[in-house]
Amino acid sequence: MLKIASKLPHVGTTIFTVMSQMANEYQAINLSQGYPDFNAPQPLLDLMQKYLNAGMNQYPPMTGVAYLRQQIAAKVDKLYSCTVDSETEITVTSGATEALFVAIQATIEADDEVIVFDPVYDSYEPAIQLAGGRTIHIPLDDKFNINWNLVRAAVTSRTRMIIVNSPHNPSGSTLKAEDLDQLEALTEDSDILVLSDEVYEHMVFNSLAHESILRRPKLRERAFVVSSFGKTYHATGWKVAYCVAPVALSAEFRKVHQYVTFTTHTPTQWALAEYMENYPEHYLELPAFYQAKRDLFVEEMKDSRFKLTPSQGTYFQLADYSQISDKSDVDFTHWLTQEIGVAAIPISVFYDKPTPSQHVRFCFAKDDATIRAACKILREL
Ligand code: PMP
Ligand code: GLN
Repeated sequence: MLKIASKLPHVGTTIFTVMSQMANEYQAINLSQGYPDFNAPQPLLDLMQKYLNAGMNQYPPMTGVAYLRQQIAAKVDKLYSCTVDSETEITVTSGATEALFVAIQATIEADDEVIVFDPVYDSYEPAIQLAGGRTIHIPLDDKFNINWNLVRAAVTSRTRMIIVNSPHNPSGSTLKAEDLDQLEALTEDSDILVLSDEVYEHMVFNSLAHESILRRPKLRERAFVVSSFGKTYHATGWKVAYCVAPVALSAEFRKVHQYVTFTTHTPTQWALAEYMENYPEHYLELPAFYQAKRDLFVEEMKDSRFKLTPSQGTYFQLADYSQISDKSDVDFTHWLTQEIGVAAIPISVFYDKPTPSQHVRFCFAKDDATIRAACKILREL
């Protein structure tokens, strides 16, 4: 009998895969895993075709197609007044998942402590564990904001990294300028790195600005900032993202990236670069596009027994179902998917310590007709 010692003995299949499979099996409307049910913009699809046919089908540079890196640098300058060298400070990756994994492997050593905030996106901890690091979980408060007193109390001489995620998955909360002030004060004069997961940077509502780490020179010099084209261009399956980091951190990042994927799908990079150059309005209009969907979802749920506090960002909306059921959130989402026909994500799975929750997460990156059809069912509960 072959003996296998699991390096991740406590890790199962991700909740996103579990719930999407269940949604398919039971033919439920799938508001669980985060992805749009509409297509990427037609001109972007045409550009993909153009570059496929033009023969852009071999290995691109290890760090990413230069044209795309230049477009990223221009965007970062325009939105966050941050000058980034496209040659030395931007690396294109195969999804944000790869970028997060690589940033952690490149910098975390045995017994290093990495601070994360619960509910926490599920890919961080396994990456920390594989690097030999220790994950220090700090709970967000009841409005899903960071309690900086808890963070200060958790910092030790072994703290190597703090991972922040704004807009936040699964809660939809966002970091404010005051949060960045706190993070800046906390990390100043230390060797603590910041890994900032900003994949929902273009989905921030109510005219709030996205508080990117790239706006803050002092934080930027110690940060890996990750964004994903999959979210921004309605093409989550393309798995193209990028990491912005100062020269020395990017150099370490690239040492690992070159042996994880080496490069990222070539024609997609060309197509995204040309689309970014010619259609900047796409990402500029994205907050309004998704705010309209959030508002539709909230409005359609108004007469339901779910309680909603409108999401500040991402394409997710939390809903409290305590008036409907006493079930645990995991049981509730199974029942909702299998018996009622709408799939959602439970929240308790994103906590380290058992945290009973009566919240579920719905994804509203859906055609209006899908949102209406799902809410019609949910209103009857
Ligand atoms: N971070 C967060 C917070 C996410 O929600 C996602 C999306 N699935 C990712 C990272 C991974 O993004 P990608 O699909 O580009 O790997
Ligand atoms: N990030 C997506 C979500 O939160 C899912 C990505 C995945 O399935 N790994 O739904």
